[in-house]
Amino acid sequence: MREQLDTNPTHASSVGRASGFELVREDGSDSGNMARAIERNRAFAAAAGHEGAGVFPGLRLFVVTCLDPRVDPAHFLGLGLGDALVARNVGGRVTPEVIDDVAFIGQIAEGVVPDGPLFEVAVIHHTQCGTGVFADDGFRRRYAERIGAEESSLRERAVLDPAATVTRDVERLRASAAIPARVAASGHVYDVVTGLIETIVPASGG
Ligand SMILES: [Zn+2]
Repeated sequence: MREQLDTNPTHASSVGRASGFELVREDGSDSGNMARAIERNRAFAAAAGHEGAGVFPGLRLFVVTCLDPRVDPAHFLGLGLGDALVARNVGGRVTPEVIDDVAFIGQIAEGVVPDGPLFEVAVIHHTQCGTGVFADDGFRRRYAERIGAEESSLRERAVLDPAATVTRDVERLRASAAIPARVAASGHVYDVVTGLIETIVPASGG
């Protein structure tokens, strides 16, 4: 279907081409990719793909993982619609925002489940993570300037050793007073080459 792609040079920026995002135009709009995704949505709805999904996650899982398109837990964990809550950010890091989100779901779950375990937060870091660029001084400096952040705070965002960073992030979750003690936390590494996930920190608490 390559011939249907928009290759008009007036539409695609040279930077976009160089980075592989050749379908993104200068003004940031795409050239039909969302239209193609919406076609898939129509087929999804027509096949009743949305029916039967509950608001409470069927597997009582809250997955935290990276934005990387290779690291979609619907695929590598076989999650169906309604199976899990999923928070994705750069690196799959346990940021203050992620802690706030887990605390929010924790507070709702406490109101629904009077006692016993509530749910498990599974933090998943992966090999070949793009956050490795945070270890690059030049990149980190430019990005810190761009977002108005402290450069030193960005260095630790790099996932260079996913087993180490996922262990640190699970500790961060467990140490948070905002998260109910009935919420369990576990840490895992997903290998983008083998497709396998390995548990680094087994679930505790909950
Ligand atoms: Zn990543």
